[in-house]
Amino acid sequence: MKTAIITGITGQDGAYLTKFLLKKGYSVIGLLRKDREANLRNIEYLGLRGKIKLLKAELLNFPDIVKILEQYNIEEFYNLAAQSSVGLSFQQPLETINFNIISTAGILEAIRIVNPKIKYYQASSSEMYGNVKKETLPINEKFPLNPISPYGVSKAASHLLTINYRRSYHIFAVCGICFNHESVLRGNNFVTKKIINTAVKISMGLADELRLGNIKVYRDWGYAPKYVEAMWLMLQQNKAENFIVSSGKAHSLEEFAVKVFKRLNLDFNKFVKMDKTFFRPNELEVNYGDNSKVKKKLKWEYNVSFDELIKLLVEDEIKYIRWNIKNNNYF
Ligand code: NAP
Repeated sequence: MKTAIITGITGQDGAYLTKFLLKKGYSVIGLLRKDREANLRNIEYLGLRGKIKLLKAELLNFPDIVKILEQYNIEEFYNLAAQSSVGLSFQQPLETINFNIISTAGILEAIRIVNPKIKYYQASSSEMYGNVKKETLPINEKFPLNPISPYGVSKAASHLLTINYRRSYHIFAVCGICFNHESVLRGNNFVTKKIINTAVKISMGLADELRLGNIKVYRDWGYAPKYVEAMWLMLQQNKAENFIVSSGKAHSLEEFAVKVFKRLNLDFNKFVKMDKTFFRPNELEVNYGDNSKVKKKLKWEYNVSFDELIKLLVEDEIKYIRWNIKNNNYF
């Protein structure tokens, strides 16, 4: 039985990756923050509680990471913990830069010192590329990094550090460069979740309007449970590399929202209000990724269309809201 550590196990990808690895027969250790009560809702929703080992660790405290790596015989380390919101990174740049970069550096350095045979996954992001010329799209692994948000900068630094450890110390360290991927477990501070959650609530008579910022942006959206499969595949190869994980297509946020409302038979124009306070200081206009490398080399299969994605997200949200009502959770 292989053992994997996951940082960020309470988040969207952490929960789905845990589910996936348990199915593969892995023993999974999840690291939780030391400084606050962990929010285990995602873990509980997927029925994973009791099937995994949860340890408290401060990821900015190097000795904490060293101690865990010395104590457990780890084969794979998935580093998913991050302040993951672009919007929040403009409000909390210091926290975002500090946590996202220093935690990555600490984990890589601990692996180098304790057990350089551990295979490492870094959660890199499409936000590292910033605005690229439209005629050069789709973005591939060779594109230069040119981030336009503190989040993008933090991810670019962590990405480069990971490559550095791969080249300097021959650590099997991969970077999965994921484009936006969504699910019912997406944090409430993400616009896609806000749209779906509010629309479903409106359909249930639990909300009466949705306020949105810039809906003229185009993104490459995929389905999160499929993206974690690519993360695992990257660590099963003979060579550590960087892989773009994306759906390969861009759609506007407006189209996303209109389709969600249509699916619920709601009048978009009646319930949606535009609100300039949600605009960001700098906004990525359009991006989408070239997923040919991950499909060809890793045989990653992705065939969730945009309409299918919307259907899945809306159906899952209805079930999720009902589950939360049943369990007296805030939703
Ligand atoms: P998420 O749902 O926001 O989860 C983030 C995780 O990081 C949570 O478990 C959170 O723990 C943890 N975390 C945040 N700050 C922390 C801190 N100071 N100390 C310890 N843990 C901390 O993010 P996700 O969507 O699963 O994404 C996983 C990773 O992929 C992230 O690194 C993200 O930046 C990256 N990524 C995501 C996407 C996407 O579209 N989802 C695309 C590209 C890259 P708490 O629950 O305790 O807050």
